[in-house]
Amino acid sequence: ARRAALAASTGPGATADGHKVPLLANIGGPADVEAAVEAGAEGVGLFRTEFLFLDDSKQAPSEEKQVAAYRQVLEAFPEGRVVVRVLDAGADKPLDFLTPADEPNPALGVRGLRTLLDHPEVLRTQLTALAKAVEGLPVYLEVMAPMVADRTDARAFADACREAGLRAKFGAMVEIPSAALRARSILQEVEFLSLGTNDLAQYTFAADRQVGAVSRLQDPWQPALLDLVALSAESAKAEGKSCGVCGEAASDPLLACVLAGLGVTSLSMGAASIPYVRATLAKYTLAQCERAAAAARASDSAEDARSAAQAVLSGE
Ligand code: PEP
Ligand code: MG
Repeated sequence: ARRAALAASTGPGATADGHKVPLLANIGGPADVEAAVEAGAEGVGLFRTEFLFLDDSKQAPSEEKQVAAYRQVLEAFPEGRVVVRVLDAGADKPLDFLTPADEPNPALGVRGLRTLLDHPEVLRTQLTALAKAVEGLPVYLEVMAPMVADRTDARAFADACREAGLRAKFGAMVEIPSAALRARSILQEVEFLSLGTNDLAQYTFAADRQVGAVSRLQDPWQPALLDLVALSAESAKAEGKSCGVCGEAASDPLLACVLAGLGVTSLSMGAASIPYVRATLAKYTLAQCERAAAAARASDSAEDARSAAQAVLSGE
């Protein structure tokens, strides 16, 4: 029966009553594109560009090399959306030539957008390569920055995109609680939000994502995390803008329904999860998802939040 349900699962992501929630793929490079297309991804919601920087520990890849890699991905989704994240170096993704070696707390140090603002030439090359890669293609390009903390960060990123002549929407990832709390202010500078729930959980719970001993606090069902998701989605709605999720949370079919109920406008995940999320989302109406989301937020633990959402959706 599970197989049959999955086979029937094609087409755009939507709730049972037709509320659309585009299902996008997280990819790490051109090698992941085929699986994304096969899974029926409606585009790419997170293109982690770090892979391009792993070949050479001394310098950034050339503009030409970047243009070719970006173009390969953009050409695979002629009608779709592609959300490219600029380099997220540092913390769990250190790069020799960019990441300071002597930080006591790398996750709280110079990483993500902070690294790029300290090395504007690296950001400029990446944005120029994206501008060239999208030339002549009908694809709908969106470019976002990791680890945006506040409006000043968002403005610096948007300025850099404009200076590179990039024809795209500019967005901010919400991975730091300050960004969720002040989402409306950040949205004065950028056109969309994308929740990186892996880092958002890490920074909300002061729980290192690489330390197994604190994994209980990394659970994306934690009600405090759901509160920050809701605040971000409500802020985006109030500004008439979109707010997706591209962290691991989106790949849990039940949680995906809750996220839709919280007002999240798209879900991006590893390609393998897309059929499961699509099939589950199609079983429930938006109103049911909203009730499940409210029940999860009214809980006091991740475990209770999951059971409460499950109870609502199974009609108990
Ligand atoms: C996240 O933090 O949730 C995210 C999507 O980015 P990454 O896992 O690459 O840090
Ligand atoms: Mg992150």
